[in-house]
Amino acid sequence: MDHFHYKFGRLFAEEVEVRQIVEAVGTPCYIYSKATFLDHLAKVQQAYSPIGTLVCFSVKACANIHILRLLAEAGSGFDVVSGGELFRVLKAGADPKKVVYAGVGKTDAEIRQALNAGIAYFNVESEQELQVVIDIAEQDRRSAKVALRVNPDVEYQTHAYTATGQKQTKFGIDIDRILAIFQQYGRHPRVRLCGLHVHLGSGGKLTSPYVEAVQKVLPLIEVLRKQGLMIEVLDLGGGYGAEYESGSVPLPEDYAAAILPLLEGQGLRLILEPGKSICANAGILVTRVLYTKQSGSKRFVIVDAGMNDLIRPALYDAFHFIWPVEVPEELVPVRRSRRLLFEGLETVDVVGPICESADFLAKDRPLPRVQRSDLLAVFTAGAYGFTMSSNYNARPRGPEVLVDKDGFRIIRRRETYQDLIAPEQ
Ligand SMILES: *Cc1c(COP(=O)(O)O)cnc(C)c1O
Repeated sequence: MDHFHYKFGRLFAEEVEVRQIVEAVGTPCYIYSKATFLDHLAKVQQAYSPIGTLVCFSVKACANIHILRLLAEAGSGFDVVSGGELFRVLKAGADPKKVVYAGVGKTDAEIRQALNAGIAYFNVESEQELQVVIDIAEQDRRSAKVALRVNPDVEYQTHAYTATGQKQTKFGIDIDRILAIFQQYGRHPRVRLCGLHVHLGSGGKLTSPYVEAVQKVLPLIEVLRKQGLMIEVLDLGGGYGAEYESGSVPLPEDYAAAILPLLEGQGLRLILEPGKSICANAGILVTRVLYTKQSGSKRFVIVDAGMNDLIRPALYDAFHFIWPVEVPEELVPVRRSRRLLFEGLETVDVVGPICESADFLAKDRPLPRVQRSDLLAVFTAGAYGFTMSSNYNARPRGPEVLVDKDGFRIIRRRETYQDLIAPEQ
């Protein structure tokens, strides 16, 4: 699953004791395991190896340049959703021919930047956007490949904010419009429409929506091909489950076993855009207990990480397993679960220092008794943790640390007060 585990009641990241890192960098801090990123990436690459597949890590999940470099060196491509992410992956040494670019609101400047970079595909989300890509490509005498993002209208069971594949969301183009758009633009000399893209959402726990989406787009691809259009690529997006709780989601090989039989012999290049399934459990957020207090029947554990460091609980009601970095051996968790793991725990809200009631990391959570100065690990914080962090309440963001076997290095330093006001000078 990952490389964070307890030895004699002490939490280790690979072979480094978490306390040792905290002593060097303070709290709150994000700690990543190199081996976990690489294991997850390799598993996806292997699972789909029977057909030509390009795995494009979704940069918005975890965008540190050192991590992008690590993944690029392991053969990963990248899925970007902004000019800033494109800048990051190119700086990290990514091959632009392995970069795909999605997003409903690309600006002209971003489109130009991506054309100049020579990315593999634009995943285009509207007819107007397609027209703008064509206009800019003509002005600049560039060429590009485009996959149309289809909204397949597939139900995807997840939080409403992370479902993207249904008609009432802003994403993609209605499936019944696709044929007409291909007929109008499909033979453009500079901008080649050559594939379809679907991204259903994030946080799903089932393989069936992917199967349903493929079953919906394959007949469409057949129709397009019968019209003489060259369809070479199917991008199935991301959203593959991450193990926030042990054993709660399908594995890459389960997804592959469901999807691959449908695609064999179709002559399609498959693109996948996994984000959190690669990086979520490659990272933890470590925070220190500042205070504990009782308020009516509620017990609060107030920690030094807040919603500005990890917004997922506040934004999506997301579950993150939280456990002390050091516990008596009989309280070492055997799995990560929202269920009660041991008798005799306290039920607490783990909350941050920010002036918002949404500033919580966990609610009504059974935890071993903790006290001031104890360290807590918030697990599975490698995805949408640092990348969604902010300086709200003028809080400098914590450092990111990458562990590799028995060594670690700071891959982003802690921000200072000067950093907070630097752009205001
Ligand atoms: C966010 C996003 C992804 C990654 O989603 P995960 O749930 O992190 O796998 C992939 N593709 C697109 C287009 C996205 O917007």
